[in-house]
Amino acid sequence: MHVCVLGAGIVGLATAWQLERQGHQVTVIDRAAPGAGASGGNGAQLSYSYVQPLADPSIWKQLPKLLLSPTSPLKLRPQLDPLQWRWGLAFLGACNAQTSRDTTAQLLALAASSRTEFEAMQADIAPDCDFSATGKLVLYAGAASLEGARAQLELQRTMGSEQRIVTPDECIAIEPALADYRGQMAGAVYTPSECAADCLKVCAELMRALSARGVRFMLGTDVHGFARSEGRVAAVQTNEGDVRADAFVMALGSASHKLGRALGAYLPVYPLKGYSITVEVDPTPGAAPRVNVTDSARKVVFARIGSRLRVAGMAELVGHDASIPATRIETLAAATRAVFPHASRLEELHPWTGMRPATPKGLPIIGRLPGAPSNMLFNTGHGALGFTLAFGSARQIALALAPSAATPS
Ligand SMILES: Cc1cc2nc3c(=O)[nH]c(=O)nc-3n(C[C@H](O)[C@H](O)[C@H](O)COP(=O)(O)OP(=O)(O)OC[C@H]3O[C@@H](n4cnc5c(N)ncnc54)[C@H](O)[C@@H]3O)c2cc1C
Repeated sequence: MHVCVLGAGIVGLATAWQLERQGHQVTVIDRAAPGAGASGGNGAQLSYSYVQPLADPSIWKQLPKLLLSPTSPLKLRPQLDPLQWRWGLAFLGACNAQTSRDTTAQLLALAASSRTEFEAMQADIAPDCDFSATGKLVLYAGAASLEGARAQLELQRTMGSEQRIVTPDECIAIEPALADYRGQMAGAVYTPSECAADCLKVCAELMRALSARGVRFMLGTDVHGFARSEGRVAAVQTNEGDVRADAFVMALGSASHKLGRALGAYLPVYPLKGYSITVEVDPTPGAAPRVNVTDSARKVVFARIGSRLRVAGMAELVGHDASIPATRIETLAAATRAVFPHASRLEELHPWTGMRPATPKGLPIIGRLPGAPSNMLFNTGHGALGFTLAFGSARQIALALAPSAATPS
């Protein structure tokens, strides 16, 4: 079968890898380069056990401060966009304990399968991507927030996650570069099995390996519509002409809503804007972290990728505005100076912004959708966990297109 994958972010490329392995002829279309969307400069964390959705009941207490403080990591710029309002209301509707528990269970299952598939990809193509499996510490500043984390940890323990609460001294034993931050920590959740890698390098390596296996890449090619015939998609319409295939997979990240609409499908995917910086680290032992660290009070994540430190954070509902305000970058640099004062001279910051393709509940949309043509599959809406979940959701797409799978008419 000839399958055309729309989007060469981590989700589209993982999908192309799974489909090629399954014996399909694969074409990948993207208007830019692989990883040029949300995947390129993301937080670099393969967060298999730490999947708590943003839509959580704790948001209600934090919301006024998060929305009103000028230095808040969360920002809302109300727009005349019905999707923003519809998405926002659905998000608030999902901020309850039952929905958060159900979503956590589904995300943990998908993340576990994604870990297996990522490892299979590593064995298959041996990507050079600054991969590490040094674990993760999520720091909490106060006793109350640490207690809240304990409740989530207990919930996740019943779902198979291996995590434990550690004291500030234990934190420093696990990650000596946190020594100067001792006074700011009440404790942390430690997950020894978490990993990190440079997602942009994974994208580039997937393209290299897939090209060598005959996958066709149409880069610099903008998808703007679909030609339909007898209830199916016959071709995608692009600035390079029509591209025909037997089946299509939409993996267009935060652009999915717009193109889904052209097919009569409602995809509740809204851009949740974030930022990162990437700095060279001081190689002196103990200066820069080797373990992934999330500072929950600052809502900033730190991941070591080779000789660099990736620092990422913020969540803004501001539409598709791709500007990078200097204040956001300074906040990330200040967080780095505060948490890891010896990690880097912060000479070159490499500022970056990306749009998490977020659904209200935090669950990705994977497979066929009612009302949409049956040969169009969707693999989108991975929100804050796209790198983590990409290989598992790609596996689900491959299973849906396996020669043995029944094709609905
Ligand atoms: C600040 C930040 C930190 C993050 N940290 C982490 C993390 O630590 N761990 C984690 O698991 N996830 C993280 N994420 C989330 C993760 O990066 C995303 O979920 C993931 O990149 C989504 O991948 P994607 O392939 O769906 O979308 P994208 O990477 O955005 O890819 C979509 C592709 O579609 C292409 N495209 C769009 N429209 C068209 C069109 N009309 N025609 C042709 N091509 C088109 C784009 O060019 C793009 O290449 C983070 C995200 C951000 C923003």
